[in-house]
Amino acid sequence: MTRVAFIGLGNMGGGMAANQAKAGREVMAFDLSPAALDKAAAAGCSRAGSVAEAVRTADAVVTMLPAGPHVRQVYAEHILPHAPKTALLIDSSTIDVESARAVAAQAKAAGFRFADAPVSGGTAAADAGTLAFMVGCDEGDFAAVEAMIAPMSRATMRAGDHGAGQAAKICNNMVLGISMIGVCEAFALAEKLGLDGERFFEIASKSSGQCWSLTNYCPWPGPVPAAPSNRNYEGGFATAMMLKDLKLAQEAAARAGAATPLGATAEGLYALFDRLGGGGKDFSAILEMLRGNAP
Ligand code: NAD
Repeated sequence: MTRVAFIGLGNMGGGMAANQAKAGREVMAFDLSPAALDKAAAAGCSRAGSVAEAVRTADAVVTMLPAGPHVRQVYAEHILPHAPKTALLIDSSTIDVESARAVAAQAKAAGFRFADAPVSGGTAAADAGTLAFMVGCDEGDFAAVEAMIAPMSRATMRAGDHGAGQAAKICNNMVLGISMIGVCEAFALAEKLGLDGERFFEIASKSSGQCWSLTNYCPWPGPVPAAPSNRNYEGGFATAMMLKDLKLAQEAAARAGAATPLGATAEGLYALFDRLGGGGKDFSAILEMLRGNAP
């Protein structure tokens, strides 16, 4: 039986680990939070007392941790010294490209195969096993990474070498953050001009304003029933998470010397919305701030 060590069982990792167990794999799970560990155990995973214990006999290790410093520390102190060299190491956290490349270099130097494989899709997709994975790894390792990820994925795409998965993730989310603000500004203007929101949606969705933020995730309640705007912007993709990804994009742009003025503006607007109390709301709720309403 394939043995998977799963480290980080939070909002995303909990469902992802459960899907590995559902696929018949032996999952050794660890999280610093006892409550997260209890939930994973109830979903068919085995409890490990530490990262070292979880990875000791693993065929693959999947990490789903908050940010770059957590990933650097867990790999350097707990995974690389204790996992068998044959284990395939996959980090699915969203972290900075530099940290992903640094961890990959350390893992490679220690004789491991490593992939950065951040995900697109929120907690519902994590629970359903329908995340999209953007992978940075050696070409020859991709088939093994894809097979290991399969129970958690609806699409697994290789972006390039180490760090390319994280690069694809932050570039994609920068498009998303910018396009959502554009759509929200258009709804706020349409309203001031006396144009009915639903009518504007019908027209723009069949015109050149059409984009994912409008037609799949419409911030105006009504036209797209599955969108968080119909649930008072609860659930979905939290503003605080979008802000984290936009910050990563800005840090990467500064380091690489890329001009991303709209990305910088989007980061500023989401930071403002976060400070006004919107951090826990879905990121499409920024419509309310742009309409002049409190979050
Ligand atoms: P979360 O905070 O719910 O979960 C992170 C878990 O890691 C926590 O349970 C925490 O206890 C655990 N942890 C932290 N340090 C640890 C350590 N040293 N050892 C073991 N466990 C440790 O976060 P999340 O929402 O599950 O997100 C995880 C990652 O996925 C983040 O990088 C996030 O940006 C990314 N992501 C999240 C979403 C989303 O919608 N929530 C979507 C796509 C990507």
